[in-house]
This record gives sequence, structure tokens and C-alpha cells, in this order.
Amino acid sequence: MVYLDHAAATPVSKKVFEAMKPYFSDEFFNPSAAYLPAKKVSAEYEAAKGVIAHAIGAKANDLVITAGATEANNLAFSVVREVLDPACPSDTLRAAQAKSSRSAEHIGPKTSLYLATEHDSVRKVAEQYGGEAISVDKNGRIDLDDFKAKITDDVVLVSVALANNELGTIQPLSEIAAIIRKVRLDRLSRGVKRPLYLHSDASQALNLLNVNVARLGVDLLTLNSAKVYGPKGVGALYVSHDVKLKPSSYGGGQEQGLRSGTENVPGVVGFAKAVEEAEKHKNGNRKKYAELRKILLNELQGYELLNKKHSLDNFIVLCYNGIDAERLVFLLEDKGVYVSTGAACAANKGTKSHVLAAIGLSDSEINGSLRLTLGETNNKEQIHKVAEIINEVMSQEKRRIEK
Ligand code: PLP
Repeated sequence: MVYLDHAAATPVSKKVFEAMKPYFSDEFFNPSAAYLPAKKVSAEYEAAKGVIAHAIGAKANDLVITAGATEANNLAFSVVREVLDPACPSDTLRAAQAKSSRSAEHIGPKTSLYLATEHDSVRKVAEQYGGEAISVDKNGRIDLDDFKAKITDDVVLVSVALANNELGTIQPLSEIAAIIRKVRLDRLSRGVKRPLYLHSDASQALNLLNVNVARLGVDLLTLNSAKVYGPKGVGALYVSHDVKLKPSSYGGGQEQGLRSGTENVPGVVGFAKAVEEAEKHKNGNRKKYAELRKILLNELQGYELLNKKHSLDNFIVLCYNGIDAERLVFLLEDKGVYVSTGAACAANKGTKSHVLAAIGLSDSEINGSLRLTLGETNNKEQIHKVAEIINEVMSQEKRRIEK
């Protein structure tokens, strides 16, 4: 098998698995318990959070551990409700109180902006928070003019992923942050009190880019263990000191009161180990993926490359216009090659990629697009083999269509 879908999931590395193991059995204690072994586990949990935080230039207390990036993205958007309606409880609680008098009408239109190519866990929550999409160019990069035109005085939150999960496009976050700083100053000078925050989903970026919250200029940042060879169902939201959110759950007060519930100690220890490993191997992996990408692009035939510029090195997005990429995925699976047509969740639902539509592709081009994402499981030998297999399958498909 050659696995080329590392943007969908990465295997838990051996080192990560070993680091997690003791916390399922010998070190099973609830970190909130009063006795010594529990206090030790609590300290180790905090130390693991510290490792994750350190990788982005933050402190353990700046992180809210979540059950993945979806939850972190959802939590980030609660800042909009907190700003507009501080007395209203969180959405979780509001759902329980279905007849609450304080309902959606408190969230006006255009109170948040998000990039048209964002993952559904941003797009769908943005829809609940007066979200408006910012356009991208043909490379999937933010259209800064459209962005500037859309930051009206109503906007509380701007959400732009550091790297996109279908094209691998890296966004100019520092430039976006600089624009936001200017808008803040302008609001201040005009006596407009509404704050403006920048959130970024760094799920796909943490593996290969230097992700430093100060350098990027973000107020909120989402991390995802499942994309960095850590366990699934673990993520984190970095929250800058001056940002107030609505708790996603109420209870024992864990995670600074923002996400109550007994801590997932093995998950967080595994995430920390994975982050540590990612930090060590980032530069080497970038070089390795750039080389493998080059080999593949040299040996493949008859495609158009969709992510030519500003892309993560491990993303290869190909368009075979006129070909049914869904069929290709199955034909390649028969030959032991695992690829995807786009985001795993969209592919699974059979819906058209909103990312490829946003960069201006026609339906036929979208239908013919294939996403290959390299990872630590790949080597040169595999890539030569994959190029041969894809070329062969493509020729068969073309012959079949021409008949
Ligand atoms: N954001 C991005 C950019 C992703 O790639 C993913 C996963 O596919 C998510 C969010 C959602 O992550 P999870 O399913 O772990 O919550």
C-alpha cells in the first residue's frame, strides 16, 4: 500500500504511542484528585500542554485542550457572541434552553469574516455567527482588496487558515494581521468600541511551518493532533490574554473554565510528543517532500497542477480535466494507492469541493481533481511506483472514454 492522504489522517507514530501508554493504565489518575499520584499526573498533563504551547510561542495556560480542530474552531467563534451579548450563556447552554429569550437575532450580519476556502468546521460555524466569505485568487490566496472592503465596523472576528486542507495554500497571515491592527487603530480614532480579532486554523500547517502566534499576529489559533502523527480527537485552541470566549461546556472548571470535563491525559501527552517530533523533523521533512513532489510531477503525464504557488510542500493537487476523479480514486485503491479527491469529509458526502469552486474551477475541472498529500510513510521508491500506476490508470481511463 502507498498512502498519499496524510492531510486526512496521519498514523500515530511509535514514539507517540509509547509516550501515551502509561497514562491508560499505571498513570490513570484523575488530575483533579487530591492524592499524590494524581498530582503527579496533573503536573505531567500541564507539562505536556507546555510543550504544545512552547511550539507556538505560548504558555500552557494560553491553551484550551479540545477534542480536535472542529471543536477548537467552534470555540473560537464564540468570541463573537461574547462581544455582542456577554450576558448570554454559551451555545451549548442555549441549545438546552431552547426557549431562551436571547437568541440568534443578537448576532447581526457580517459580524465575522472567513476565507471562502476554509474547512467546513469554520464555514459552518461562521454561518451561525453572521459570517461573510472573503474571496481568494486562482492560487487560493486571500484577495486582500476584498478583505479590506469587507471589514466593516460590525466585524468582530476574521478567520483565515494558515494552510488550506485541500490545496495546501499558505496564507500571508502577518500581512492580514497588519491590516487588522490598522483597522483597530482606525476604530479607536473614531470612537468605535467593537474589538476585532484574528483566528487561524493551523491544523495542516503545524507539521511543516513555523507557527508562532506573535509572529503571525493571531489572537486565536487552532491546532490538531491528528494531522501531526498524534492521536485523533485531540486539539487545542490558543487564546490570547485579552480575548474572552463563551465556555463550550460547564462543569468542573477545567481548561480555564472554558471546557469543563476530565482531562484527556494520554491524548494530550501523545499530542505533545507528536509536536516535539514535528519540531525536530520539520526542516528535513520539507526538503524530503519537496524532492518527492518534484519527482512525481516530473514523472506524471497529462495533468494540470492546481497548487503551483504558495503551497505546503507535501500537497500535490492535480487536475485531469474530463476525467472522473472519483473513479480514479477507486481504480487507484485497487492497485494499493490511497489518494483523495479533496477533503475527506466532503469526499465522503459526495459534495462538490467549495475550495476548488472558490479558485474558479469549472465543474468538469473540479470533477477531475485529485489530492495527493505526502507524509512520513512515503519514500522515493513508492513515488516512482505511484507515478507509473497513475499514468497507467489514466491511459486506461482515457481509452475507455474515447471508445
Ligand atoms: N481544520 C482543518 C484545516 C482540517 O484539515 C481538519 C481535518 O480534516 C479540521 C479542521 C477538523 O479536524 P477534526 O476532524 O480533527 O476536528
